[in-house]
Amino acid sequence: MSGLLEELAYTKGLAEGLLEGAESEAVVRVVKRLLSLSELMAARITEIEAQQKKLNEYVETVDGDLDRLERTAYGISEADGRESRCPSCKEKLVYDADILNRGGEVECPACHHNVLLEAAE
Ligand SMILES: [Zn+2]
Repeated sequence: MSGLLEELAYTKGLAEGLLEGAESEAVVRVVKRLLSLSELMAARITEIEAQQKKLNEYVETVDGDLDRLERTAYGISEADGRESRCPSCKEKLVYDADILNRGGEVECPACHHNVLLEAAE
């Protein structure tokens, strides 16, 4: 969130101008503390966002790997593979298109509900 750091810099500029004319020493101390706290929070949030981005990329990679593993485990070729979502738990279902010719029902591996697959996907 780059806007956060810009907003903080702008607010600091405003506060510094205000503090120059401030008569109360206590107000100056409190405002300075709040600014330091804001800087600390902005730094932490920026760090967390960077970690989150890395984690998202990693999860996407793992998800792709898992897709390939599922296709291999169930003997589904890339060309025949279809995907759907379990209506109860939203788990991704990977199945062979051929299953549609055999009733089109699969068991969700996550919640074990039987899911009737639609031919038109
Ligand atoms: Zn399910």
